[in-house]
Amino acid sequence: MTEKKPILLVEDEPHIAQGLIYNLQEEGYLVTHVESGEKALNHLQESNCALVILDRMLPGIDGLEVCRQIRQQDKQLPILMLTARGDEEDRIAGLSEGADDYLSKPFNLKEFLLRVGALLRRSNWQPTAEHQPKLVRFGANRIDLETHQAQTPKGQLQLTELEMKMLSLFFDHPGKVLSRGTLLQTVWGMDPDTETRTLDNFIVRLRKYFEVDPSTPKHFLTVRGRGYRFVSKPE
Ligand code: CA
Repeated sequence: MTEKKPILLVEDEPHIAQGLIYNLQEEGYLVTHVESGEKALNHLQESNCALVILDRMLPGIDGLEVCRQIRQQDKQLPILMLTARGDEEDRIAGLSEGADDYLSKPFNLKEFLLRVGALLRRSNWQPTAEHQPKLVRFGANRIDLETHQAQTPKGQLQLTELEMKMLSLFFDHPGKVLSRGTLLQTVWGMDPDTETRTLDNFIVRLRKYFEVDPSTPKHFLTVRGRGYRFVSKPE
């Protein structure tokens, strides 16, 4: 079974939103719907999604500004812009702010779903292309597996070899409990001098880097008596 792709729908008109949600769900997507730009940006700070469907005309921060702000954070997240107007200038404005595709309302639902599918397929192979950075995202964090650079809400940082080793182990086993033994052996090898305290200190450091509140971790969880568990998307 393939994982359902999460889509963020930003649309303030309830009847349009309802129709789109229904059809996207029928296609097997996991839809989160918000009705304002503020909520959309908040949602993206906290969760990952594979595609944003963004209405151009929104109350508060409008679609163009939302698009601009998403692009400042993320150059790759596919954005499909929807608009009530069909004029060329509006279309160009959307594309110049970084939208990947554009549909004018009213649109054909079949065409809409085809474009959604095409954008998701395009973004699927992007990360494997050689020139594309390999990014892991969780919460508001982004980690480049090649340069070992991390973007966190607290700023940018350069991760060490050992930190990357441990993170990679977690990323390869999302949601799974990794025992202290497994973590110690994989990250530090068989070195008998490694104290288990070292592992705990390491986890404390990862939480300091990547958790919004390191004292109540949402991503790097302690599983009492068993080890640690990495959760990409907290419930
Ligand atoms: Ca609207």
